[in-house]
Amino acid sequence: MNTKYVFVTGGVASSLGKGIIAASLAKLLQARGLRVTIQKFDPYINIDPGTLNPYEHGECYVTDDGAETDLDLGHYERFLGVHMTKANNVTTGKVYFTVINKEREGAYLGKTVQIIPHITDEIKRRMLLLGKTGQFDVIITEVGGTVGDMESQPFLEAIRQLQWEMPEEDLASIHLTLVPYLRAAKELKTKPTQHSVQMLQQAGVHPDVIVCRTEKELTPEIRRKVALFCNVKPGHVIQSIDAPSIYQVPMNMEKEGLDEMILSHFGINHYPEPDFTKLQSFLDKLYHPKYQVDIALVGKYVELQDAYKSILESFVHAGAANECKVNVHTIQSEHIDASNVEEKIGGMDAVLVAPGFGERGLEGKIQAIKYVREHNIPFFGICLGMQMCVVEFARNVLGLKGAASTEVDPSSPYPVIDLMEDQKSTTIKGGTMRLGAYNCKLAPESLAYKIYGTEIISERHRHRYEFNGDYLERMEAAGLRASGRNPETGLVEIVEIPTHPFFIGVQFHPELKSTPEIPQPVFVAFVKAAMANRNSRGRVCEL
Ligand code: GLN
Repeated sequence: MNTKYVFVTGGVASSLGKGIIAASLAKLLQARGLRVTIQKFDPYINIDPGTLNPYEHGECYVTDDGAETDLDLGHYERFLGVHMTKANNVTTGKVYFTVINKEREGAYLGKTVQIIPHITDEIKRRMLLLGKTGQFDVIITEVGGTVGDMESQPFLEAIRQLQWEMPEEDLASIHLTLVPYLRAAKELKTKPTQHSVQMLQQAGVHPDVIVCRTEKELTPEIRRKVALFCNVKPGHVIQSIDAPSIYQVPMNMEKEGLDEMILSHFGINHYPEPDFTKLQSFLDKLYHPKYQVDIALVGKYVELQDAYKSILESFVHAGAANECKVNVHTIQSEHIDASNVEEKIGGMDAVLVAPGFGERGLEGKIQAIKYVREHNIPFFGICLGMQMCVVEFARNVLGLKGAASTEVDPSSPYPVIDLMEDQKSTTIKGGTMRLGAYNCKLAPESLAYKIYGTEIISERHRHRYEFNGDYLERMEAAGLRASGRNPETGLVEIVEIPTHPFFIGVQFHPELKSTPEIPQPVFVAFVKAAMANRNSRGRVCEL
């Protein structure tokens, strides 16, 4: 069988859940026995989102192989359980970078280099790349942005050319739109969808299936009307109705027949029934929790949900694993100081201090950590959160006044967090952090070892600064244990306070590997610790 390609475009509005639809279809095809991967093509000119402020584009998701990518890749991994790679996220910047470099090398000598064919050829090459590895039966490509944007036009042109070049049964196109409900008129409106599909067709791309995001059930009349006006087969207009959980969407898409439509388009007629026992048991626990806890997420990008996407998803997974509803209270670290810390986090069952960069909100994070350390409230620090628990411990337990990370105070008398050696010569910002998966060796009888149940773990990283080994002995003697180290370099990856009920800081990003079916063990243990703390304080966990 030839490799099959599915392209997912979107129209009318952004944030309709194109990534979730792409991931849900992938999940369904995977459950039907096919080897599937997903890639995202983003129209912006940055080479990758690594240099973007999270307020601009949400969290930057990091893969095992060290790519800094769009957060949709996180959804792909969480839905599929398959690891993404550098090749799974392409930007306009990457495409132009390749073409311009080739031009300088003389690859196009004598020719005028143009969007068509040079840029579109490079887009097509990348669209087909994963298909050429022989590892996959189906490649799903999500095109970022909204149809009609000037920036996504070369991507649509590339899809048009592929639709023209490839056998019809090897390529399918799905378009996701919005069918808004007008309360005053008590009506669902299809006009924006019609316009969106018109624009797609003007670009020469013909959709095979239209998925309509909607708050209300689409009637058969509306489906027929959209099919007629948008020139797709009757029955090929389906709904994506608001779901209580994104993990419900694969099942909803199956009910709508999305996977069967695509399989029959590909001429694939024999396939097993999908087995969703695991996902269903996760959803049952998610929808019917027995307990609840209140956990603070202390960070500086809290105004934008997407900035901490993987952390929030990890709480959903870990909550379900504990049959516990995790009420996440986001707290702006900039607003925390010694006078209000009790009021802000005193009532919480546990506190997570988030990753981040730069000075803003750091002192608030340190205040929050001091409070939870002294009040035996479960603490989980991730990356910058871990670094700040080291700073807090140095200042308030070791009495090292002015201890800091050199990221914010290069002249600190006690640089307990310092720039990594190999970062000292780096001036370029893009793609130069310590990125991707590294091994970590856990100390016997540590909390970390108890949580993971194994000696060597692998987690993903994205940082430039590290625990300064010069302070290790003093810190350990005072009760902050380095319980996880990189086996090759000795870099401190995990710290914990053994005398505290649950106090752990990790230099890596465990949230990037959590899935509904395999929840991340530190998150699972942290939620459990929050439940235990709530019980021990006489607050009721039971719902
Ligand atoms: N800013 C810190 C560093 O670069 C932490 C990074 C993070 O939290 N991802 O080391």
